[in-house]
Amino acid sequence: MEYLISNFGIIQAVTIAISIVFLRYLFFSGILYSIFYLFKKQRFKHKRIQKKFPKLIRIKKEIKHSFSTAIVFTGIGLCVYALKINDLTKIYTDLSLYGSGYFFLSILIILLLHDSYFYWIHRFIHHPKLFAIFHKVHHQSRNPTPFTAFSFDVTEAIIEAAIIPVIILFLPMHPLAIFIFFNISLGFNIMGHLGYEFLPSWFIKHPILKWINTSTHHNMHHQKANANYGLYFNFWDTLMKTNHKHYHKKFYAITRKNKKTSITD
Ligand SMILES: [Zn+2]
Ligand SMILES: [Zn+2]
Repeated sequence: MEYLISNFGIIQAVTIAISIVFLRYLFFSGILYSIFYLFKKQRFKHKRIQKKFPKLIRIKKEIKHSFSTAIVFTGIGLCVYALKINDLTKIYTDLSLYGSGYFFLSILIILLLHDSYFYWIHRFIHHPKLFAIFHKVHHQSRNPTPFTAFSFDVTEAIIEAAIIPVIILFLPMHPLAIFIFFNISLGFNIMGHLGYEFLPSWFIKHPILKWINTSTHHNMHHQKANANYGLYFNFWDTLMKTNHKHYHKKFYAITRKNKKTSITD
């Protein structure tokens, strides 16, 4: 009996965890979708990266695929939890152990590590022999929406997130820092698929900010597929010369609202 109760408890806990991950995605994507694709569509149309809007059937498919991604991400989260309770991670709970400076540094380090991993895995899964196995679902959205953020093949969701339990095996991180990292990651992901560019035109010329990827950058990846592989930062795309040759032109065309310089979608 006790065995059954404890197992039912585990099933309930996992179901709740999956629901939280999925509903969090639905909530934030849903709010942005409601504003920019339903209620304020006309008001912000000059900020659209691609003029056309995707069909509703595509969005339904994105949400369907995102549910399986939520299951995978919950599984990865449970791996982190299992590693932690078995004392196999470098997760620490006493903030004074490494100080507040390290707290923020650890977030930057995990972002840089995840970004490097993502860039190379992403290039890898664009190989013609691997594309259909890992990356096809995500690129079915050629005109992404906030709902594209979690729309992956199950295989892609696994390899993209699998690095996180590995990182916390050797990188000391506070649970709050991990939580902040996950939220930054989700924020970037949804922003990259928003379909709109709200940054100012000087952003990509700023000596520091230009190293952060924009919504236009990832939107062009969905349109063109053979460039702009980076996630949070532009270091690898710059180093490997994989930024799309029209990236800056396209970014200026939207942010300067100059229709004459606009290039075709
Ligand atoms: Zn994408
Ligand atoms: Zn891709």
